[in-house]
Amino acid sequence: MIGLRIIDLTQVIEHEMSIFPIDPQPVIFPWTTIEAHGFATNALFMVEHTGTHVDAPSHFIKHARSIDAVDLETFQGSAVVLDLANFGENAMIKAVDIKKAEEKNGIGKGDIVLIRTDWDKFWRKDIYLKSNPGLSADAAQYLKKKQVKLVGIDTPNIDHPTASKFPVHNILLAKNIPIIENLTNLGSIEKSRFEFIAMPLKIKQGTGSPVRAIAVV
Ligand SMILES: [Zn+2]
Repeated sequence: MIGLRIIDLTQVIEHEMSIFPIDPQPVIFPWTTIEAHGFATNALFMVEHTGTHVDAPSHFIKHARSIDAVDLETFQGSAVVLDLANFGENAMIKAVDIKKAEEKNGIGKGDIVLIRTDWDKFWRKDIYLKSNPGLSADAAQYLKKKQVKLVGIDTPNIDHPTASKFPVHNILLAKNIPIIENLTNLGSIEKSRFEFIAMPLKIKQGTGSPVRAIAVV
């Protein structure tokens, strides 16, 4: 269609990528080759939460919805970016900061909210996994109260690195608000409101899935 442009917000899946030490580096290896079999395929080994991915409620909440049971409407819709790019190393993003960032583009019920910290500039560096800015519990409570349908962030973890009990994951996922992590390129979206799409794979009882996240502007 005339005038529509797709902005890719997704990190590349490859062996040398940022992944928490508890998870394996993804392995992508040739399975068949054109020379031997007439057609080429690769086999993949990785956890569901590799690269740009979405967390299903069942990632933290027992008996909650798995990724194949979440309505697809959740992963597509009207989105806003909240500019929190001045929150750097180990910064805590509080409800008051979300409210301030929201003044430019108010959050409404059913919105998709993407939190831009520009932390993705440290992708593949040690600091990326250790010292990310993260949301406080009261920031999660605020987004829950706003009845947003999906929250995304350009860090590996929406929680603060010192929050060992993952309050933000627990608050949002208990309310069936999935979380997308490891987004990238949020700074290149100039529109204040746009269409966001990030469809998960239909993994039976999956706790999450890699997604191809895009903004349509
Ligand atoms: Zn995850």
